[in-house]
Amino acid sequence: MHIVPSRVCRVAGFAMALSAGGAAWAQQGQDPFSGSTAAGGARLVIPGPVVPATVPGVGPIQMETQTVWKPVCSNRVGMTALDLQAMALSHGADFGDMTKVIVVDADGGGNPRAGLDIVYVLGASVPAAAVPAFAAAEAYLESQFTADTMTVTVTVSFASLQSGVIGGTSSSYGYLTWADMRSTLQAGADASDGIMASLPAGTTIPVRYRTNRTTNEDRVFTTFANFKANGGTVAGNDASMQYSTNFPFDYDPSNGVTANTISLQDVVIHETGHALGCTSGLDFRASDIEVLDVFRFQRTDGNADYNPDTAAEFQIRPRMGVFNYNDDHNLDVIGPAEYRLSDGSPYQASHFREQVPAIGIMDPAFSYGETFYPNFLRTSDITLFDAIGYDK
Ligand SMILES: [Zn+2]
Repeated sequence: MHIVPSRVCRVAGFAMALSAGGAAWAQQGQDPFSGSTAAGGARLVIPGPVVPATVPGVGPIQMETQTVWKPVCSNRVGMTALDLQAMALSHGADFGDMTKVIVVDADGGGNPRAGLDIVYVLGASVPAAAVPAFAAAEAYLESQFTADTMTVTVTVSFASLQSGVIGGTSSSYGYLTWADMRSTLQAGADASDGIMASLPAGTTIPVRYRTNRTTNEDRVFTTFANFKANGGTVAGNDASMQYSTNFPFDYDPSNGVTANTISLQDVVIHETGHALGCTSGLDFRASDIEVLDVFRFQRTDGNADYNPDTAAEFQIRPRMGVFNYNDDHNLDVIGPAEYRLSDGSPYQASHFREQVPAIGIMDPAFSYGETFYPNFLRTSDITLFDAIGYDK
């Protein structure tokens, strides 16, 4: 591990870009928070610039972008969109003095390195005791995906947040036409991704946003990181995270996690998983899907054989886009196993279904004292990330 203090060249410009959030407009999700354990549906969507990008197998495009802030899924109390706006502003301010920024990057800046390269850019507010947790998360994630040469940059701050809030995170998104997304996913496929040959043909992908109606969807949202995992190119910060200085974290799960604390390393790996692309359009978009949703089907066959059993069915069956539909969503890549996904309520759809024991680290609700250490990503998680483009 090598921790590089203040490599200003890499991070210059973040503060300016992040403070642009002051002009943001706020959007409430479909599931306004009302409970006591779920993170709820508050969202902050900050429109971004149109930027040049390159679609594998297609060529250069101009990509519309946006930054989306969400509460950390395991927060104990809800957050409002205004809370998220305050978070985005204080996060940007944390990078005003670049001499206090720490860059956690095991390869010491020798980019591009072979394989996934995670770079955590820690703002002035990050407690010194927390730094090793980010270094450990970085080393673990990089060890899991070694076939995709790409860099994912995540800025991190800490702030005094309300009781029960772990934090919030944002990811940068763009969208592609369905034809461009298919080309992207196929370009990113490895030997285990034969199913990509059976993505829907043509210019649209069928999605059921309503129970009994199929929409021919012509675009798909993707995080910057997910796009790059499949060989796309786009410049900019990939994700941001802010955690609470008031929340009881255990920074080191290797010796167990203290009761009444949450393992920060687990949370960081989970939240980075969202930035990598474990994220769903069902949570807050109005009839739009994200990459993960390309592999989301009704778990049961229902009245129209909705669950695909073969590659041929995978190509034509409508994707499940119905928010809060009967706890009946599956991740399905026509592989040896399907995995249940959250249907969006009461937990964000950007997860596996909440159950005990957890399906994987992309479970929606961490418990006090829980850890996935040392094997944070399970077969379920690897299957999900492999499907959306991460290879080993
Ligand atoms: Zn989550």
